[in-house]
Amino acid sequence: MLITPRQLLDRFDGLARGRQLTAFGLSRYELARAADRGEIRRLRRGVYASTKATDAAIAAARHGGALTCAGALQHHEVWTLEDDDEPHVWLGSTGRVHPHPGCSCVAHYHPGRMSLGVADVRDALIHGYFCHGEEFFFCALESAWRKRLIGAGDRARIRATLPRSAQWLVDFARPDADSGLESLMRLRLHLQGIDDVRTQVHIDGVGRVDFVIEGRLIVEADGEDNHTGPQRHRDLRRDAAASALGYESLRFDYVQILRAWDTVLEAILAALRRAHA
Ligand SMILES: [Zn+2]
Ligand SMILES: [Zn+2]
Repeated sequence: MLITPRQLLDRFDGLARGRQLTAFGLSRYELARAADRGEIRRLRRGVYASTKATDAAIAAARHGGALTCAGALQHHEVWTLEDDDEPHVWLGSTGRVHPHPGCSCVAHYHPGRMSLGVADVRDALIHGYFCHGEEFFFCALESAWRKRLIGAGDRARIRATLPRSAQWLVDFARPDADSGLESLMRLRLHLQGIDDVRTQVHIDGVGRVDFVIEGRLIVEADGEDNHTGPQRHRDLRRDAAASALGYESLRFDYVQILRAWDTVLEAILAALRRAHA
């Protein structure tokens, strides 16, 4: 035998139907033997898994479909604004649900070619739009683009699949967003009519800053790590240098931007009014 059932399954990311495997020359008997020996798992009739498959993907396969939405995007290392607490399962347009123990899956019936395992980035982005909305979609889209996980053809296909009212999100997306937080900020500011937003700007004497808005306001978006000690000192020195150059600086952390956007926006709008006064 040239390839074992487990090796072949691993090439399918750990999940496949029996007929996908027998197409490579393995017999049903060999699959059954490998399952008996514990080298692979038989999830249900005609569906097999190896240890390469994640728990969420296995739950989705047991349910009768492919893992999609945040779970699939994270599998592909795309940044997501939120997690899915339960597996979101793509059943194709006519998929059949298979009851399984402990099922808490969220089922999606989107058109397209579903195969067991994990939905590809393009499909998971589309499903993510319909499931989680604009912000989730936009941040994940920019993350996927930056990581070169989607190409021009994918973006065109995604755009054509979205409702017309949402297609601008694809046009507005850029391949160079530095983080999900940056994508989110740009999108939210755009929706407030603030479009003079430059990102990752180098300012002599200050260094690289996250955002310069309308040429006057520096906004720094701090990640989840706390700025303490030497980092805190660097931040303060940068703020002083920026002020000396005529900039105003605002600094927000991850939780503020995500959960208290109203207060963040008020602070930005007030600073811009002062800058233009
Ligand atoms: Zn289920
Ligand atoms: Zn979903």
